[in-house]
Amino acid sequence: MKAPRFAYARPASVAEALALLDKHRDDARVLAGGQSLVPMLNFRVAAPKVLVDINRISTLSGIKITKTHVRIGALARHVELERSPEIARHLPLVAAAVPHIAHPAIRNRGTFGGSCALADPAAELPACALALGATFVIAGKKGERRVAAGDFFKGLYATALKAGELLVAAEFPLPKSGYRSAFGELARRHGDYAMVGVAAHGTRKDLRVAFFGVGDRPEAVEADSVDGILSKIGGLEPRADLHASAETKLHLAKVLAGRVLAQLQ
Ligand SMILES: Cc1cc2nc3c(=O)[nH]c(=O)nc-3n(C[C@H](O)[C@H](O)[C@H](O)COP(=O)(O)OP(=O)(O)OC[C@H]3O[C@@H](n4cnc5c(N)ncnc54)[C@H](O)[C@@H]3O)c2cc1C
Repeated sequence: MKAPRFAYARPASVAEALALLDKHRDDARVLAGGQSLVPMLNFRVAAPKVLVDINRISTLSGIKITKTHVRIGALARHVELERSPEIARHLPLVAAAVPHIAHPAIRNRGTFGGSCALADPAAELPACALALGATFVIAGKKGERRVAAGDFFKGLYATALKAGELLVAAEFPLPKSGYRSAFGELARRHGDYAMVGVAAHGTRKDLRVAFFGVGDRPEAVEADSVDGILSKIGGLEPRADLHASAETKLHLAKVLAGRVLAQLQ
């Protein structure tokens, strides 16, 4: 199938993009890497009247390190995160997660902001944002607002973004001394969305673990020991999907968490 007809706009600044999004509201859709949106158009799952292509807005790109955090621009491509020495140094969880996203051609175009705005429950980057306590920076008509990752993912493909708003970046706190990360996922083939995934960050006495592929959004579990995390996994409520029953997913989450948390020792 081909995409339905749409008007196309390519703003050069956030202000211009916001004006377009505000004017067209629910009729508009942001186009970033297009790796999810274009198939959605072609399958007629989405039929926006206006596409607002943000690829020319240079202020949305890049990775910046400040004294307190790492700021990842919404337009940072998966491949940039994969190859960035700053990400490898400061956010090794993200560096470990990105090679699991799809395939090189998709990672060349897909963006950090697109992945988080889409909020697929089996996606890697939303889980990393949750495990690392990131804050999302959202621009709208009234200015910028910040939303903690724990409040950003609202449900199946649902986020705190409102009509007329644009995801600008996410700010990840620089990890504290002694804090480590570990990542793992189970997928049918490398590059497929995860059946179950685990993104862990902390010390053996202060842990936050984000599970993905086990519910309608990434789920964070916190505890002051590995056993504490493992004992809370039963509280997850995975839904059966094409890959596995709810019981199988819960079992896989426990097995995978055991393996991933062993890496933190
Ligand atoms: C075959 C295949 C396999 C894949 N496998 C995986 C996988 O294993 N793991 C994974 O995580 N992803 C996977 N993906 C998805 C890929 O990571 C996409 O790049 C990502 O989901 C969307 O990013 P994008 O930049 O392409 O966004 P787009 O497709 O351009 O947009 C996606 C959605 O986000 C909105 N949006 C985009 N940017 C913004 C913004 N800045 N502000 C507000 N809204 C915005 C769009 O309006 C749209 O609704 C796969 C895709 C394909 C085609």
